[in-house]
Amino acid sequence: MIQSEYPPSEYSEQSIAERYDVIVIGGGPAGATVGALLADQGHSVLILERGTIPRFHVGESLIPETYWPLKRLGLLEQLKASAFPKKFSVQFVSDGWKESAPFYFDEHDPHESSQTWQVERADFDKMLLDNAIAKGAKLRSRSHVLDVLTENEQVVGVKVKLANSSGQQTDVREIRSRVVCDASGGSAFLSTRMKLKQSDPLLRKGTIWTYFRGAQRDAGKDEGATLIMQTEGKRSWFWYIPLRDDIVSIGCTGDMPYMFPKGSTPEETYHRELERCPALQKRLANATRCMDFFTTKDYSYRSKQAAGDGWVLVGDAYGFIDPVYSSGVLLALKGGEFVADAVHEALEANDLSSAMLGAWKATYDAGVENFRRLVYAFYTPDFHFGEFLRVHPEYKSNLVDVLTGAVFKPGVSEMFDVMGDIRPETVEPSLPEATGS
Ligand SMILES: Cc1cc2nc3c(=O)[nH]c(=O)nc-3n(C[C@H](O)[C@H](O)[C@H](O)COP(=O)(O)OP(=O)(O)OC[C@H]3O[C@@H](n4cnc5c(N)ncnc54)[C@H](O)[C@@H]3O)c2cc1C
Repeated sequence: MIQSEYPPSEYSEQSIAERYDVIVIGGGPAGATVGALLADQGHSVLILERGTIPRFHVGESLIPETYWPLKRLGLLEQLKASAFPKKFSVQFVSDGWKESAPFYFDEHDPHESSQTWQVERADFDKMLLDNAIAKGAKLRSRSHVLDVLTENEQVVGVKVKLANSSGQQTDVREIRSRVVCDASGGSAFLSTRMKLKQSDPLLRKGTIWTYFRGAQRDAGKDEGATLIMQTEGKRSWFWYIPLRDDIVSIGCTGDMPYMFPKGSTPEETYHRELERCPALQKRLANATRCMDFFTTKDYSYRSKQAAGDGWVLVGDAYGFIDPVYSSGVLLALKGGEFVADAVHEALEANDLSSAMLGAWKATYDAGVENFRRLVYAFYTPDFHFGEFLRVHPEYKSNLVDVLTGAVFKPGVSEMFDVMGDIRPETVEPSLPEATGS
C-alpha cells in the first residue's frame, strides 16, 4: 500500500551511547547497507535517521545487479518471498507511441539475478534497516543530524537533535565516533556544508509523479516491466512502474523550466505531457489516480570529494545522476559495499585518513560514468539507440550490461568510445517556483 505518511514507531525511542565506531547519517539503502555490513564485522554502528520509519520515498524500480549486494546482505530469500512484482525487462516507447521490443534481461544472462523487483520503498528500505539492526547496528529515527564535530580538522562525531515518538524535541546531543558516514541522500548533508557539491549543467531536470490504480498492465512476463515512455517531441518522458495491489507509479521528467513553468501547477503540467503520450493515455483509460502529485527537481549533482579525515560519503550523498535508468538504489547498495569495506579496513588499520576512507573512489566513479554517458545519450535529441545498434550490433550486450547495472564489468565502457562524446545541451538554470504538493 502506498502511503506518504506513517505513524511514529519504536525506532524513535532507542537509547544511544556516547561513542560508536561509526555513525551513519541517514537510513536509506546506502546507510542501511553500510550499517549492516560494518555491524556484521563487529563494529559498533549507530544509524541516525531524521524521518519516521517506514518512510515514503521515490525510486521504486530495481535493476538486476542489485541482486549481488542484496545477496551479500542476506536479503534474497525475503525478497523472493515478498509480494513485490517481479521485473524481467525494460521497454522503451519513443515519440509518445512507438514501442520498441522489450529488453529481457535473462536473454542476456540466464542467471536468476536477471529477474529483479518493483518495490514500495517504505517497505524495501525498512527491510534493509531491520536487517542492519538484526546484524547489530543501532538505529534511531526522528534524529536530525545538525552538524559534525571536528578536532584538528578530523571529523570525530555529530551533533544531533533527537525527538521522541510523539515528535517532541527531547534534546540536542553530541555523539562521538571514529568515522562519520554521510548517507543523507539528496540533501547531501556534508558535501553541501563543505561546499563540495556540483550540479550537472547538462541535467537540470525536474519530475512530477503520482500513483494510479487500475492501469492496464501487459500480460505474463511483461506484467512487472518498467516502461520508459518518451513524449512526442522528446521534451519529457514518463516512467511506468507497476507495483503491488494494482497500483502503478507514473512520473514525468523534463528540463526544469519546462516542467515548472510560472503560472502552471504540477497537475496541469502532468496532464499537458500526458496529452503528448498516447501510449500512456491508452494504459490509463480505466485507471483512477489514488495519490497526490509529488515534485522534485535539480537532483543531478556529484561531490568533488568522496572522503576526508574521519568522514566518507555514500549513495546519493556522494552523487546522483538521473532517474531514467533506475540506477540510484543499485549505486546506494553497491556504494554501501565499497564504503563498508573501506571503513572496515580503515578501522582495522587505525588509519582514518581520507586516502583510506575514500580508497574506492576511482573504481566506483568509473562505473558511475557508464550510467552517466548512457543518460547523456538518452537526452541528446539527435541520438537514437536503435540507429546506433543497427550500425554497431556488436555493442548490444554492452548496452544491456549498463541497463542491468553491470557498470563495473571490465570492457563495458568500450561502447562509449565508439559512440563518441554525446552530450545534451546545457539547460539554463532559471528556476521558476513550483507549486503544489
Ligand atoms: C525522481 C526520481 C526517481 C527515481 N527513481 C528511481 C528508481 O526507479 N529506481 C532507483 O533505483 N532509483 C531511483 N531514484 C533514485 C533513488 O531514489 C536514490 O538513488 C536512493 O534512494 C538513494 O539512496 P540513499 O540511501 O543514498 O538515500 P535516501 O534513500 O534518500 O536516504 C537518505 C536518508 O537520509 C535521511 N537524512 C537526510 N538528512 C539527514 C540528517 N541531517 N539527519 C538524519 N537523517 C537524514 C533522509 O531522511 C533519508 O531517509 C530516483 C530518484 C529520483 C529523484
